[in-house]
Amino acid sequence: MLSGRALALAVLAWSLLKVVVRRLFDGPSGLALFRENYDADGLPPLSPAERAALPGFSRCIACGRCDLGEAERIAASRGAYPGLMTVVLASSRSMPDFDAAALALSHVPEAVLAEKEQTCPTGVPFRELARFVRSKASAARALALDGEGSAPADLALAAAAASPAAALGPSSADRAAPEAT
Ligand code: SF4
Repeated sequence: MLSGRALALAVLAWSLLKVVVRRLFDGPSGLALFRENYDADGLPPLSPAERAALPGFSRCIACGRCDLGEAERIAASRGAYPGLMTVVLASSRSMPDFDAAALALSHVPEAVLAEKEQTCPTGVPFRELARFVRSKASAARALALDGEGSAPADLALAAAAASPAAALGPSSADRAAPEAT
Protein backbone atom coordinates (compact mmCIF):
# COMPACT_ATOMS: atom_id res chain seq x y z
CA MET A 1 0.00 0.00 0.00
CA LEU A 2 1.44 3.35 -1.09
CA SER A 3 1.42 6.38 1.17
CA GLY A 4 2.87 9.86 1.43
CA ARG A 5 5.22 10.94 -1.34
CA ALA A 6 4.96 7.66 -3.22
CA LEU A 7 1.17 7.92 -3.30
CA ALA A 8 1.34 11.52 -4.50
CA LEU A 9 3.73 10.56 -7.30
CA ALA A 10 1.51 7.63 -8.29
CA VAL A 11 -1.57 9.88 -8.46
CA LEU A 12 0.30 12.47 -10.51
CA ALA A 13 1.62 9.81 -12.88
CA TRP A 14 -1.87 8.35 -13.32
CA SER A 15 -3.31 11.79 -14.02
CA LEU A 16 -0.58 12.55 -16.54
CA LEU A 17 -1.21 9.23 -18.27
CA LYS A 18 -4.93 9.96 -18.48
CA VAL A 19 -4.31 13.43 -19.96
CA VAL A 20 -1.88 12.08 -22.56
CA VAL A 21 -4.22 9.26 -23.58
CA ARG A 22 -7.18 11.63 -23.74
CA ARG A 23 -5.26 14.05 -25.96
CA LEU A 24 -4.13 11.29 -28.25
CA PHE A 25 -7.38 9.44 -28.69
CA ASP A 26 -10.22 11.37 -27.18
CA GLY A 27 -11.23 14.49 -29.03
CA PRO A 28 -9.84 17.81 -30.22
CA SER A 29 -7.12 19.98 -28.72
CA GLY A 30 -5.62 23.39 -29.39
CA LEU A 31 -7.67 25.67 -31.65
CA ALA A 32 -10.22 22.93 -32.32
CA LEU A 33 -10.77 22.54 -28.59
CA PHE A 34 -11.03 26.32 -28.20
CA ARG A 35 -13.70 26.43 -30.87
CA GLU A 36 -15.53 23.51 -29.36
CA ASN A 37 -15.60 25.34 -26.01
CA TYR A 38 -16.33 28.89 -27.18
CA ASP A 39 -18.15 28.84 -30.52
CA ALA A 40 -21.48 28.60 -28.73
CA ASP A 41 -20.60 31.75 -26.77
CA GLY A 42 -19.91 33.71 -29.94
CA LEU A 43 -16.20 33.94 -29.24
CA PRO A 44 -14.18 33.41 -32.41
CA PRO A 45 -10.40 33.00 -32.04
CA LEU A 46 -8.03 35.93 -32.58
CA SER A 47 -5.19 36.02 -35.03
CA PRO A 48 -1.73 37.03 -33.76
CA ALA A 49 -2.14 40.43 -35.45
CA GLU A 50 -5.48 40.96 -33.74
CA ARG A 51 -4.00 40.06 -30.37
CA ALA A 52 -1.19 42.54 -30.95
CA ALA A 53 -3.72 45.29 -31.73
CA LEU A 54 -5.74 44.84 -28.53
CA PRO A 55 -3.61 47.10 -26.27
CA GLY A 56 -4.17 49.98 -28.70
CA PHE A 57 -7.92 49.46 -28.47
CA SER A 58 -7.71 49.70 -24.67
CA ARG A 59 -5.91 53.02 -24.38
CA CYS A 60 -9.02 55.12 -23.74
CA ILE A 61 -8.85 57.35 -20.66
CA ALA A 62 -12.50 58.42 -20.89
CA CYS A 63 -11.72 62.06 -21.65
CA GLY A 64 -14.84 62.38 -23.81
CA ARG A 65 -13.22 64.31 -26.68
CA CYS A 66 -14.36 61.81 -29.29
CA ASP A 67 -17.97 62.45 -28.30
CA LEU A 68 -17.75 66.11 -29.28
CA GLY A 69 -19.99 66.74 -32.26
CA GLU A 70 -21.71 63.37 -32.00
CA ALA A 71 -25.09 64.58 -30.71
CA GLU A 72 -26.82 64.45 -34.10
CA ARG A 73 -25.57 60.97 -34.91
CA ILE A 74 -26.52 59.75 -31.45
CA ALA A 75 -30.05 61.13 -31.84
CA ALA A 76 -30.42 59.83 -35.39
CA SER A 77 -29.38 56.33 -34.34
CA ARG A 78 -32.43 56.04 -32.07
CA GLY A 79 -30.45 54.39 -29.33
CA ALA A 80 -28.15 52.23 -31.44
CA TYR A 81 -25.18 54.60 -31.15
CA PRO A 82 -24.47 55.93 -27.64
CA GLY A 83 -21.41 57.96 -28.61
CA LEU A 84 -17.91 56.90 -29.57
CA MET A 85 -16.43 56.88 -26.07
CA THR A 86 -19.07 54.43 -24.88
CA VAL A 87 -18.42 52.17 -27.82
CA VAL A 88 -14.68 52.24 -27.13
CA LEU A 89 -15.07 51.68 -23.41
CA ALA A 90 -17.97 49.25 -23.31
CA SER A 91 -19.46 47.30 -26.18
CA SER A 92 -16.19 46.97 -28.10
CA ARG A 93 -14.62 45.22 -25.11
CA SER A 94 -16.97 42.26 -24.99
CA MET A 95 -16.91 40.12 -28.10
CA PRO A 96 -20.40 38.68 -27.58
CA ASP A 97 -21.60 42.31 -27.74
CA PHE A 98 -19.82 43.09 -30.99
CA ASP A 99 -23.01 42.94 -33.00
CA ALA A 100 -24.27 45.93 -31.00
CA ALA A 101 -20.90 47.67 -31.29
CA ALA A 102 -20.86 47.13 -35.07
CA LEU A 103 -24.35 48.52 -35.33
CA ALA A 104 -23.33 51.57 -33.28
CA LEU A 105 -20.22 52.16 -35.39
CA SER A 106 -22.26 51.95 -38.58
CA HIS A 107 -23.57 55.41 -37.64
CA VAL A 108 -20.10 56.96 -37.76
CA PRO A 109 -18.54 57.50 -41.19
CA GLU A 110 -14.95 56.36 -41.75
CA ALA A 111 -13.84 59.95 -42.39
CA VAL A 112 -15.19 60.99 -38.99
CA LEU A 113 -13.34 58.15 -37.29
CA ALA A 114 -10.16 59.26 -39.07
CA GLU A 115 -10.66 62.86 -37.88
CA LYS A 116 -11.23 61.77 -34.32
CA GLU A 117 -8.06 59.70 -34.34
CA GLN A 118 -6.23 63.02 -34.65
CA THR A 119 -7.88 64.44 -31.53
CA CYS A 120 -7.81 61.40 -29.24
CA PRO A 121 -5.08 62.12 -26.67
CA THR A 122 -4.14 58.46 -26.36
CA GLY A 123 -4.29 57.63 -30.06
CA VAL A 124 -7.07 55.05 -30.03
CA PRO A 125 -7.16 53.71 -33.63
CA PHE A 126 -10.90 54.08 -34.21
CA ARG A 127 -10.88 52.82 -37.79
CA GLU A 128 -8.87 49.73 -36.92
CA LEU A 129 -11.11 49.11 -33.92
CA ALA A 130 -14.19 49.40 -36.14
CA ARG A 131 -12.75 46.89 -38.61
CA PHE A 132 -11.92 44.50 -35.78
CA VAL A 133 -15.40 44.79 -34.30
CA ARG A 134 -17.07 44.17 -37.66
CA SER A 135 -14.81 41.27 -38.41
CA LYS A 136 -15.50 39.51 -35.13
CA ALA A 137 -19.21 40.34 -35.20
CA SER A 138 -19.36 38.74 -38.63
CA ALA A 139 -17.42 35.69 -37.42
CA ALA A 140 -19.67 35.36 -34.37
CA ARG A 141 -22.77 35.53 -36.58
CA ALA A 142 -21.34 32.79 -38.76
CA LEU A 143 -20.77 30.67 -35.65
CA ALA A 144 -24.34 31.29 -34.53
CA LEU A 145 -25.68 30.32 -37.93
CA ASP A 146 -23.58 27.16 -37.93
CA GLY A 147 -24.84 26.25 -34.49
CA GLU A 148 -28.48 27.22 -34.64
CA GLY A 149 -29.47 27.88 -38.22
CA SER A 150 -30.50 31.46 -37.41
CA ALA A 151 -29.22 34.50 -35.56
CA PRO A 152 -31.35 37.42 -34.37
CA ALA A 153 -28.27 39.66 -34.48
CA ASP A 154 -28.24 39.21 -38.25
CA LEU A 155 -31.35 41.30 -38.55
CA ALA A 156 -29.78 44.24 -36.73
CA LEU A 157 -26.59 44.02 -38.76
CA ALA A 158 -28.48 43.67 -42.00
CA ALA A 159 -30.14 46.99 -41.12
CA ALA A 160 -26.73 48.46 -40.35
CA ALA A 161 -25.39 47.27 -43.69
CA ALA A 162 -28.19 49.19 -45.40
CA SER A 163 -27.05 52.44 -43.78
CA PRO A 164 -24.73 54.65 -45.89
CA ALA A 165 -22.18 54.80 -43.10
CA ALA A 166 -22.01 51.03 -42.97
CA ALA A 167 -19.79 50.90 -46.01
CA LEU A 168 -16.74 51.82 -43.99
CA GLY A 169 -13.23 50.62 -44.64
CA PRO A 170 -12.21 47.18 -45.74
CA SER A 171 -14.65 44.34 -45.50
CA SER A 172 -14.73 42.66 -42.16
CA ALA A 173 -14.23 39.34 -43.86
CA ASP A 174 -10.69 40.18 -44.89
CA ARG A 175 -9.68 40.51 -41.25
CA ALA A 176 -11.47 37.45 -40.03
CA ALA A 177 -9.36 34.69 -38.68
CA PRO A 178 -7.27 33.41 -41.58
CA GLU A 179 -4.16 33.64 -39.44
CA ALA A 180 -5.70 31.72 -36.58
CA THR A 181 -4.26 28.29 -37.03
S1 SF4 B 1 -10.88 60.72 -27.26
FE1 SF4 B 1 -9.74 58.80 -26.95
S2 SF4 B 1 -9.21 58.79 -24.76
FE2 SF4 B 1 -10.84 60.31 -25.05
S3 SF4 B 1 -12.76 59.20 -24.66
FE3 SF4 B 1 -12.40 59.10 -26.85
S4 SF4 B 1 -11.26 57.17 -27.16
FE4 SF4 B 1 -11.15 57.67 -24.99
